Amino acid sequence: MRILIAEDDPVSRRILDSFLKKWGYQVEVCEDGKAAWNILQQEDAPHFAILDWMMPGMDGVEICRKVRERRQQPHTYIILLTAKGRKEDIVEGLETGADDYLTKPFDAQELKARVRAGLRILELQDELLRAREALREQATHDDLTGLWNRRELLAMIQRELARTHREKSAMALIMTDLDHFKQVNDTYGHRAGDAVLREAARRMASLVRVYDMVGRYGGEEFLIALPGCRAADARSQAERLRAAVAAEPFNTPAGVIAVTLSLGVAAVDGGTEVGAEALIHAADAALYRAKRGGRNRLEVADPSEMVVSH
Ligand code: GH3
Ligand code: MG
Ligand code: MG
Ligand code: MG
Repeated sequence: MRILIAEDDPVSRRILDSFLKKWGYQVEVCEDGKAAWNILQQEDAPHFAILDWMMPGMDGVEICRKVRERRQQPHTYIILLTAKGRKEDIVEGLETGADDYLTKPFDAQELKARVRAGLRILELQDELLRAREALREQATHDDLTGLWNRRELLAMIQRELARTHREKSAMALIMTDLDHFKQVNDTYGHRAGDAVLREAARRMASLVRVYDMVGRYGGEEFLIALPGCRAADARSQAERLRAAVAAEPFNTPAGVIAVTLSLGVAAVDGGTEVGAEALIHAADAALYRAKRGGRNRLEVADPSEMVVSH
């Protein structure tokens, strides 16, 4: 753990520096408030700071206020050092956002205990942030494939369509569905089926551009949104996806399985106002035609297949 010390008094600075190092912390030391603020603004700034209250340039309370104004995560834990012992001063220090304070001259054991208490807070905070991140990931992604889940993908498509309309640009959807996938499950088992879904997802995701969005729309159905993409380009992209799945059979624990995809493409162009539902419906209708047409193929929706929504 790195700890920043900002203290203009050389004696106190040396004591802090040597104790903290002795306890195994990495220490960064500075002698005035401005230098401390500069360090705290750096990208890899320490998340723990011990700041003297009275310093030339900028005092500890001022730094504290500035740090809190950033409202940045993760939290920077701040201990204010003060020679003042008056209750009002301590209250003022804590109200600007300091987490704790120490009165000088301080006792080594007390310093040690307070630094540890601060570290516990930072660890808890860290766990909380990680838990929140994991929850967000869970709420927006599909467990099996790691792709966007249906709800998140729909929300993104709605946002993208609104932008497409505003900018009078283009956007395409590709709806894909694995062919005869029930047979894969029936023949090789559900676990092999899962492995096939994961691999199909991986192949498709590896082919699209970074700003394209690939999601799991349903069981063995995937939906891909391609912002800025016109029908002809979407058709070639869909063809690449089809080929990537059909070209190589899938290695699964239950054996090598040949898999194919059918795809439906629907595109909007030039600011035609089409809702997400209508566009998805059109891609789905094209997919259905590809299925009826023999599978392992793609169809492009006719603009008349899109119900214009106002
Ligand atoms: P079609 O070519 O007409 O699409 O035929 P299909 O067999 O793929 O279509 P159908 O809709 O009859 O079957 C889809 C199958 O997908 C049935 C279901 O058990 C399977 N499935 C859906 N979700 C999962 C999953 O998460 N894991 C596995 N292993 N199978 C799944
Ligand atoms: Mg001072
Ligand atoms: Mg299906
Ligand atoms: Mg299917």
